[in-house]
Amino acid sequence: MDYSQFFSAALNRLHDERRYRVFADLERIAGRFPHAIWHSPKGQRNVVIWCSNDYLGMGQHPKVVGAMVETATRVGTGAGGTRNIAGNHHPLVQLEAELADLHGKEAALLFTSGYVSNQTGISTIAKLIPNCLILSDALNHNSMIEGIRQGGCERKIFRHNDLAHLEELLREAGPDRPKLIACESLYSMDGDVAPLAQTCDLAERYGAMTYVDEVHAVGMYGPRGGGIAERDGVMHRIDVLEGTLAKAFGCLGGYIAAKAEIIDAVRSYAPGFIFTTALPPAICSAATAAIRHLKTSSWERERHQERAARLKAILNAAGLPVMSSDTHIVPLFVGDPEKCKRATDILLEEHGIYIQPINYPTVPKGTERLRITPSPYHDDGLMDGLAEALLQVWERLGLPLRKQSLAAE
Ligand SMILES: *Cc1c(COP(=O)(O)O)cnc(C)c1O
Repeated sequence: MDYSQFFSAALNRLHDERRYRVFADLERIAGRFPHAIWHSPKGQRNVVIWCSNDYLGMGQHPKVVGAMVETATRVGTGAGGTRNIAGNHHPLVQLEAELADLHGKEAALLFTSGYVSNQTGISTIAKLIPNCLILSDALNHNSMIEGIRQGGCERKIFRHNDLAHLEELLREAGPDRPKLIACESLYSMDGDVAPLAQTCDLAERYGAMTYVDEVHAVGMYGPRGGGIAERDGVMHRIDVLEGTLAKAFGCLGGYIAAKAEIIDAVRSYAPGFIFTTALPPAICSAATAAIRHLKTSSWERERHQERAARLKAILNAAGLPVMSSDTHIVPLFVGDPEKCKRATDILLEEHGIYIQPINYPTVPKGTERLRITPSPYHDDGLMDGLAEALLQVWERLGLPLRKQSLAAE
């Protein structure tokens, strides 16, 4: 039997659908973010990164790098096993306390990634609630969908950010059925924000528990970087907050924060927590340094918002099809998978601008886009250069410009 044919056939399907992905070989330069080296087929080139989820550049912050190096030097690299076997490394205990404090919760629990925290967190919570019904936003991230699926309970999908539809499903379920509402606070492909306060109102009225993924908001919103829930003053009304250490905090790892008994139960039952090695202590120290820094420093958050607003304004003024977004995400509409890929190839090869194309299945077919994430370190000159390059690419590929600029949002 020729087994390799199955794999090449699978790859050919992706090529046929123009969905085959190629990853650029990049080397970030600490201290010079967003500049990086691209190891291109034709040799090394300097490029500017415009789509990083290290939104605030904390992955290169001297305090964060310093904490990682200092801890690794002092205690070594790996954690040495699962927490069942190796116990709790002290930097991990400190990080969990820092996270519980960030979200105003009794406790927090770390996982090896945000993906795992959703997958094993949601499925474990769902399994511990008898006859649970999960109400899930239609645009929830794959990690939540996998967690819900593995929870094995009934689930219903409500239309994205549609409170009336959510209420209808809550009412239908009746007051006695245990219900878990699962949503994100900030949806990172469109840059829109969930109505968290109203969702909490509904949860309280119909007796539902709430689980909110704040992955794209922690560090960046709220006076201490607690996320959209902190900004909107509803953190205490949400039962479980989930976040990542890999985006605005610039490291790796995921977590949930909640009441002590929820955290203790997930710790005791979640297979994706129990049977895998804990995060390395140096990563935990680095993440703690990033969280501590962003709890008291607003410079990064303010500059981040100001940079995103300026980029939206200049791209709009140039007539480029910026999709409306309430946040730091700047999506640029393309609407064609091949042109989307082609645009990013030209930007990289001819302009030294790295932006990953966003195609199906990450977004629906026909809504392919460039997703631009300016950081506090993208200055005016870089932005003007980006706008100029985009205009050239738009013209070359015959992509439409807006006739009238929409400079005023
Ligand atoms: C990136 C992401 C995750 C996963 O977080 P990682 O730490 O990268 O595994 C979870 N939820 C959402 C909405 C995400 O975008």
